[in-house]
Amino acid sequence: MKKQNHFALDEKLSEISRRDFMKFCGIMAVSMGLPIGVAPQIAEAITNPKRRPPVIWLHGQECTGCTESLLRASHPSLEHLIFDLISLDYHETLNAGAGHQAEAALHNSIKENAGKFILVVEGSTPLKEGGKYCMIGGRPFVDIVKETAAKAAAVIAIGSCASWGGVQSSPPNPTGATGLPEVLKGTTVVTIPGCPPNPYNFLSTVLYFLTFGKLPALDDKARPKFAYGRLIHENCERRPHFDAGRFAEKFGDEGHRQGYCLYKLGCKGPITNANCPSILFCDVGAGAWPVGTGHPCFGCTEQAVGFKIPLHTQAEVSQITPDAAHAPIETEQGKGLSAGAAGVLGGIAGVAIGAGAVIAKQLGQSEEGE
Ligand code: SF4
Repeated sequence: MKKQNHFALDEKLSEISRRDFMKFCGIMAVSMGLPIGVAPQIAEAITNPKRRPPVIWLHGQECTGCTESLLRASHPSLEHLIFDLISLDYHETLNAGAGHQAEAALHNSIKENAGKFILVVEGSTPLKEGGKYCMIGGRPFVDIVKETAAKAAAVIAIGSCASWGGVQSSPPNPTGATGLPEVLKGTTVVTIPGCPPNPYNFLSTVLYFLTFGKLPALDDKARPKFAYGRLIHENCERRPHFDAGRFAEKFGDEGHRQGYCLYKLGCKGPITNANCPSILFCDVGAGAWPVGTGHPCFGCTEQAVGFKIPLHTQAEVSQITPDAAHAPIETEQGKGLSAGAAGVLGGIAGVAIGAGAVIAKQLGQSEEGE
């Protein structure tokens, strides 16, 4: 499609057509659970250079998967994320400089932007033995995090490791790996858990802050409600199979090949809150999320589930449903079931977010030929 009507406010944004840019703002509005009419407000916030927040991104104990996930965001592409939507002043993976040069950049950014920058932390913070299991520039990571957070306007823990410790906090947790909310007790730390987290949940949170000057509504684990307000099980595309009592019993069996529900293979969707089935990953289309590819959800967005409950263990389903309407989990396909009524009940739960996802997906689709 020939790009026309370029956005003129910014040299970098001018590389995106206005149509694509407004589409992106619409996707962000919908993923924040806001009316699509808010898109122009988001657009105004993004294109106002005075409101573009400096971001300092620190890495603790992690695999850089969260950054990799962000690098895969393509609405818009990374260079636009970095240079136009946020001002990424310091990021250890993406920094051009290294050593003393990088350290100086960090200190200068903190000094110049005190009280204005957003601190993003990726990875857990080891607390055992004075924090010596993660040293940066000769200093314990925990000290750097505390100093930087004290001068930040907002603090975001991205990924499960930063949110609650992640895999390295599993017993016996030899380094004392700890999540940021524990390290910064008394400070509001927005958590965006996931292994990896969906980049749009991060971008939406930053844009919400940018647009409205405040953080989005958070749940009791400080996760944005717009992203973590519903169980995966409520919006899963395999939910009709669950409701109908059709389950994969073993990896590779007929039920697995047919795309049946993965509950009996240990899927933690019924006890895990996240919007994975609604917004998917990697912009490659339908099915781009664990359950969509045939792997049970392992609950990475829940502190008490991911890396804690073994994958093969079946989740306790607390979403009470009437026997007459939902098949018992142990019911074999086609036995003792009123699937139609069950499907209706199951479907109602996810209508709101599901509709939002459809709108977002439509917005994200190519409009070749228009
Ligand atoms: Fe989907 Fe897992 Fe729920 Fe089955 S148990 S419907 S696979 S989330």
